[in-house]
Amino acid sequence: MLDADFFRRWMAATATAVDREADRLTELDSAIGDADHGSNLQRGFTAVAAVLEKEAPATPGAVLTLAGRQLISTVGGASGPLYGTLLRRTGKALGEDAEVTRDQLAQAFAAGVAAVGQLGGAQAGDKTMLDALLPAAEALASSFQGAADAARAGAEATVPLQARKGRASYLGERSIGHQDPGATSAALLVEALAETARDGGAEA
Ligand code: ADP
Ligand code: MG
Repeated sequence: MLDADFFRRWMAATATAVDREADRLTELDSAIGDADHGSNLQRGFTAVAAVLEKEAPATPGAVLTLAGRQLISTVGGASGPLYGTLLRRTGKALGEDAEVTRDQLAQAFAAGVAAVGQLGGAQAGDKTMLDALLPAAEALASSFQGAADAARAGAEATVPLQARKGRASYLGERSIGHQDPGATSAALLVEALAETARDGGAEA
């Protein structure tokens, strides 16, 4: 079972991964965007880790809801509201249980990912974070590591795509040949989840 502490550790692991990869995220965003994705998420997840430490919400749902709110209020770019919606909606779908199963998380995460699609109007293949999140949500029904692998593969598969949403879409065909920054950070989020499950000895 996954408790509030597990979810706090997941968010902290995401903050660490975003710190480590911030330069790469910004580099990817400088190729097909405005070179702020690394700093946007660094600011956002640093604030998330801090508020979770301070307020220590008691349930998984409350951890993700607070994390999502914090992202929305600290990240200016497109990715702030989108990641904020992902975590808030996932948290809301988890309800008020003190502990949840991977299966419950998989269903809630799928609802969160669907909300990202609704907010941004993007679909699979549009070269956005959804290209990592959609396959990850599906694979999470089977295992944490499978979700991480699917997210990473989905992010890498954005390279040959032409962007149809967000800032990168302004480039038209010139967006082809670069990995999408948001899909890359989404893979970090899901890899941090698998890492947290591994370290905590949660079922695969
Ligand atoms: P901004 O584009 O405002 O500078 P960021 O650089 O932080 O914001 O984030 C860019 C990422 O956001 C993109 O790489 C893409 O994955 C994601 N993104 C942008 N627009 C959308 C959208 N409509 N739907 C889903 N994801 C999107
Ligand atoms: Mg940007």
